[in-house]
Amino acid sequence: MKTVTEYLWFKTQRPREFINITNQVEVMAQRSGIQEGMLLVSAMHITAGVYVNDAESGLIADIEEWLDKLAPPGNYRHHLTGESNGDAHLKSLLIHHEVIVPITAGKLDLGPWQQIYYAEFDGQRRKRVILKALGE
Ligand code: ZN
Repeated sequence: MKTVTEYLWFKTQRPREFINITNQVEVMAQRSGIQEGMLLVSAMHITAGVYVNDAESGLIADIEEWLDKLAPPGNYRHHLTGESNGDAHLKSLLIHHEVIVPITAGKLDLGPWQQIYYAEFDGQRRKRVILKALGE
């Protein structure tokens, strides 16, 4: 089995951002040379996430509002450490930090509306995502 590893780097302008990384993952999948396999896309941070869903701006606003209802900004025990990003950790847990996408015939095999997003909840610093393709 062949494995190929690459990293995507981000420095978000705002504390929260939803970044469509589908094209970058697709390019990596094709560059890997893997014809049949899978590709792990994993945020290497505890206040960010990776998810697959629609690239529709209303939905993205709905996701952000939903996350704020479930994990509102506010006071958390975590802030006793001097940090102020308790809600960002909880949002990361809700979104999850990784997805696995299929590679078929050398290309990402996503459904017609499936897009891969990096979701940042405590940005304005350098962050990265690991891409690890496995297959033949
Ligand atoms: Zn923290």
